Order: sequence, then structure tokens, then C-alpha cells
Amino acid sequence: MQGDTLFISDLHLCESRPHITSVFLTWLTEVASNADALYILGDFFEYWAGDDALMDDFHQPIIRALRQLTQQHTQVYLMHGNRDFLIRDGFSEATGVQLLDDPTLTHISDVQVLLSHGDALCTDDVHYMTFREKVRQPAWQDAFLSQTLAERKAFIEQARVQSELEKSTKMAAIMDINEEALKTLLRAYHYPPVLIHGHTHRPNRHLHNVDGHICERYVLGDWYEQGSYLKLDATGTIMAETITI
Ligand code: MN
Repeated sequence: MQGDTLFISDLHLCESRPHITSVFLTWLTEVASNADALYILGDFFEYWAGDDALMDDFHQPIIRALRQLTQQHTQVYLMHGNRDFLIRDGFSEATGVQLLDDPTLTHISDVQVLLSHGDALCTDDVHYMTFREKVRQPAWQDAFLSQTLAERKAFIEQARVQSELEKSTKMAAIMDINEEALKTLLRAYHYPPVLIHGHTHRPNRHLHNVDGHICERYVLGDWYEQGSYLKLDATGTIMAETITI
């Protein structure tokens, strides 16, 4: 019999918020280990400087916990977010987690579900889209990864400070998804009935009618004030759950 499938995103795991990491590790053992599959839809880490950071003291317990989960009966998938797009095969090999393209169309409990991180839908943020295009190019990534880990971390730290400064002046509207970009995506995937994404940190369920097709869009919540996940059960029902921190 088919069990539950769980979806999370935007945990932004980082050393400066150790409590979130411990809540997540407990949730993995107590909840995710009973599920058939766990999908991590991006921004799992606050940042990922390259797979040579796997051995960092902060990362090791997380890597071990994922490895333990995948060695049991839970399949774990990970899609890149805008913070951790440098996760590569080294991470996969260390954890048993399978990397997914963004977007990915899948069938779960007879429901056709389109999965995405969501940043590619925020096309009103032209400045970010230009940055995204640059850093997703293999040549840029290879050049970046050829620097030392310390150099990369320093660069990322600088970029994060800059991004926080810009975020405070950007209008809230341009940081949400663009309706036309959403329609283009749903058309390209032949109108999947369900889309699940994160990134905007605005957990909700929206109904869209695109060319006469209804699509339910679930937005995952972040893990700042509480833990947050979606559960798709064997009957195809999707429920939003929260974890008190
Ligand atoms: Mn994001």
C-alpha cells in the first residue's frame, strides 16, 4: 500500500539558527521516516558553497541524517533553490538523495504534480532574473568552484548582505510570482492539476484557471517561526501541516 509523500522547502538551514536544524532532524526521524518519499524543493540550506563543504561540522549531522533516511525505506529528492544551486553529485553520493531538475513533473498517488522551487516564476524581479541566468551557467559555476572554499564563502557572504539590502527596498509585489510566467509554465506542462513550489515564503493554496483548466497551486512555507510541510496521502489528498518550534 502506498504511504505518504512529504514536501518541504525554504528551511534555510544555517549555523546561526541551530534550533531549526535540530527541529528538522527530529522531524526527519519522527515524521519523514514513516513516509514513502520526501521532496525538498530548494533553499534547504541558507547557502551551499560547493560539495567540498560536505565535511563542515555544521553539515555533517544533516548529511548523516539524510543518509540514514535514504537507507531506510524513504526516497528523498532535492531540487535546487536560489541559495543552494551548487549542490552536485558529491552531495547525492554522500546522502543517497536524488537531485531533481526544476521543474519536474511527477505522478504521486495517481495525482499529476508539477514541482518547482519557484524563483524562476518571479520574473518581475528583472535584476534577480539576470543574476539567475548568469550563475546557472556551467561555465560560471566551474569558474566559481575553482576558487578555494574560503574564497567562495566570502563571496557568498558578500552577496547575501547585498541581497538583504536590496530586499528591503524591493516592492513586495515583484518578489511574488508573475501570473503570466505561471500560465506559461502550466501550458508547457499541459495543465497539471497540482503545482507545488516554495521560494516566496507565502504558504497558501491558490486556484488558477488557465485556458479552462483548473490548477491548484500550493506554496510551501519557510522554517523560521515554525516548521512547515505538505503531505500528499495515498488517496491523493494534500494537507498543509505545521510544526511548532
Ligand atoms: Mn528561494
